[in-house]
Amino acid sequence: MKKKYLLTPGPTPVPAEVLAKEGMPIIHHRTTEFSNIFLKVEENLKKVFFTNNNVLLLSSSGTGAMESAVINLMRKNSKAIVLETGVFGSRWGKILQGMGFSPIILKEEYGNAVSLEKLEESLKENPDVLAVFGTLTETSTGTVNNIKEIAKLVTKTDAVLVIDAVSGLVGEEFYQDKWGVDVVVSGSQKGFMLPPGVSFISMNEKAWKMVEKSDLPKFYFDLKKYKSKITEGQTPFTPPVSLIVALDESLNLILKDGLENLFHKYKKMGSIIRESVKGLGLELFSKNPSNVVTAVKSPDGIDSGKIVKLLREKYGVSIAGGQMDMKGKIFRIAHMGYMDKFDLIIGISAIEMGLKEIGYNIELGKGVKIVEENILSCNGCCSD
Ligand code: PMP
Repeated sequence: MKKKYLLTPGPTPVPAEVLAKEGMPIIHHRTTEFSNIFLKVEENLKKVFFTNNNVLLLSSSGTGAMESAVINLMRKNSKAIVLETGVFGSRWGKILQGMGFSPIILKEEYGNAVSLEKLEESLKENPDVLAVFGTLTETSTGTVNNIKEIAKLVTKTDAVLVIDAVSGLVGEEFYQDKWGVDVVVSGSQKGFMLPPGVSFISMNEKAWKMVEKSDLPKFYFDLKKYKSKITEGQTPFTPPVSLIVALDESLNLILKDGLENLFHKYKKMGSIIRESVKGLGLELFSKNPSNVVTAVKSPDGIDSGKIVKLLREKYGVSIAGGQMDMKGKIFRIAHMGYMDKFDLIIGISAIEMGLKEIGYNIELGKGVKIVEENILSCNGCCSD
């Protein structure tokens, strides 16, 4: 009966209204009833991506949409640039390498954002690059990349820009068409407030032209099949019906709040948590912190995995640890999806208690006080 508090950067909590829809008796997908829901979802997804493109739905986690982007865009022996600022940037490289490519990897020290200078230089040196793969919010380091400026550089070339917005969408400011991002992928279990299992991909005309020339083997993830079905409100294979019905509800909630209001809310939550963490004498890991997840350096000599385990097992509070090189060194607390101001209090309170218990000299309540004061002074702006 222990109550659980999910403050991880995916999966994130699912609102009761959305869970209730997911629990409804399943309907058959080759029906008008399903198509009508699907078409509505499709229209609403366009609003979330800020695009006029079709947003295709795949039955996979976010990585499936990433892989589908690679196999539908790339051609044998073609060149790609990967912007690596963390684990998920590195995943683009791994997918490409897995398909036999040797991408140009512009790797930043983790915690830093993409260097625009390096990208500009690399694009000049490699005019034959087919695609540039990057990440909106690098969940592993809590960093946001400057996609608007990155897009300005790539738009001048023949290459397409492919952005992983798996954790960034709905939370971080992002406008696909206005910024000129050719391809965007995302997933259900973060900003969309759904369980994992659906991923999204939105491609513009420039990218679809590239798809026509792609010669890599594909079948299930052949995006042309999905595109040809979308106007009928259908998918080529059995879709995750219950998740799509639930997605309809979560999109209603998102659009009712309004995306600009949500961007503002998460921005405020991000700034409050950063101030609170710093007030506790802790250091942020990222030099360009995102508004959807905050990565904090573990105090010297304290394995962050120990804090994460203690919080989960003793208090039922789930935050995330570090991945790859950052394992043991950082912990991450999310403020995305169905989370609000009181989740910040729970997270900071649990971190204070956990650190104290582990032996770090901390003044209990100091970080919580900062959160509370900020909530009071922002007059409800991070709850709506
Ligand atoms: N990209 C980013 C930025 C992510 O945060 C994640 C999930 N943590 C992924 C890709 C991979 O998504 P999935 O685990 O849904 O395959």
